[in-house]
Amino acid sequence: EPGAVAEAMAKCRSEGIDVIRLGYSDIIGTDRSKDLLVNRFERTTGHGVAFCRSVYGTTPMGDVVDIEGGLAAGLPDIVARPDIETLTRVPWEPGVAHVIADVFNPDGSPSAESPRYVLKNVIEKFSSIAGTPICGPELEFYVLQEDENSDSGWSRYGEMSGNVYVSGLRGDPENVLLQTLRQLGEYDIEVVAANHEFSSGQFEINLWHSDAMDASDRAFRFKAAVKEMARARGKLATFMAKPFNDEGGSGFHLHFSTQDADGNHLFDDPNGEHGLSKVAHHAIGGILKHAPALTALANPTINSYKRFGPDTLAPWLIDWGLDNRSAMVRIPPERGSASRLELRLGDASANPYLLTAATLAAAYLGIRDEIDSGEPLVGYGYDPERSPMLPSSLCAALDALEADTEMREVLGEQFVATFLAYKRNEIERFNSFITDWEFREYTYHL
Ligand code: GLU
Ligand code: MG
Ligand code: MG
Repeated sequence: EPGAVAEAMAKCRSEGIDVIRLGYSDIIGTDRSKDLLVNRFERTTGHGVAFCRSVYGTTPMGDVVDIEGGLAAGLPDIVARPDIETLTRVPWEPGVAHVIADVFNPDGSPSAESPRYVLKNVIEKFSSIAGTPICGPELEFYVLQEDENSDSGWSRYGEMSGNVYVSGLRGDPENVLLQTLRQLGEYDIEVVAANHEFSSGQFEINLWHSDAMDASDRAFRFKAAVKEMARARGKLATFMAKPFNDEGGSGFHLHFSTQDADGNHLFDDPNGEHGLSKVAHHAIGGILKHAPALTALANPTINSYKRFGPDTLAPWLIDWGLDNRSAMVRIPPERGSASRLELRLGDASANPYLLTAATLAAAYLGIRDEIDSGEPLVGYGYDPERSPMLPSSLCAALDALEADTEMREVLGEQFVATFLAYKRNEIERFNSFITDWEFREYTYHL
């Protein structure tokens, strides 16, 4: 390993890279990093680069939540060590390369709260019974532009809604999507396609599939990259789940399959029901059974639950269907090597590592316990008489996660405890905050 770092730094120097941005995901998926000079990188990273553990409790508003081992323990260190294989040049910042780090406690043990570590453990469990999981992330987001007439200072970029799949200047007058796609193409994250979504300023970009860790690393980088590139244009890209009352939310669809060591596609079976294997049916069964707990990680904000609803293309009920976009789990029509499920549950605000970990955990439990998938949904999908409803709030989803002892065990008890503490603090802060809606609703007649 030390040899690999020295080699990588020599290569960086020869390519004119003088700074390495060493980053990792916090609980909510924000990239936390330090910039290090190439000349010092090897020596600085020898023991790992120190960060304050408060990063796991830091909210988007800058408060620090008292997670276990945080404030009360005197805010000790965590140390980040580069996974040098992930080193890649940052296309929009000349001279800079990015490397993803794994996070450890000062005693050298892995940090239980590190989302990458949580995923690593779940992949290991999954692989012990059902092959190597393969994921293909699809993310939607909004691009906002400065607007002094709007309360927030931002409004949607673009002119008209209804531009779904419209390419070019009509829906994207400054070619933001086209340029973003090209720039991402030079970054090592394998984007494949970009399209306009339904609302003005809303876009989707798809990433190529690969093993679950690599796919999550790329999705993590993708979100940060899109935000950085928008910033460079004076715009704001947001992966918030549902930023506008009158427009669709932003999904984080996850395509998912699994392969054995010989490259056999374990979800495929031409003789199986619907051309799917028993393993696939059990994976679906597990995802449906553990959906309420899974929701806590796939839909991790208070705002997330406003994206769910009938007739939205986002799910509302816990169900699966064959090429049915109203279902929570859609089975795309291809079979053979492309047999896969598409989990449409997650929204763009999800941390890619945690969405993937929770999905694999639920599928793992389904496969392990041979859980029946039941019959697929046919036709119109938003019938609450037919299928159970998803949790209706973050609070309900967190309670479901806490109550699901199997999911907690697979994801890791310490991680889940920190996640619950962090997210329950978010609910407390929200519950004591007076919103615009309340002011409008209650000032005039009351
Ligand atoms: N925006 C929808 C969602 O929130 C998905 C639309 C689509 O199928 O592309 O999941
Ligand atoms: Mg879409
Ligand atoms: Mg999709």
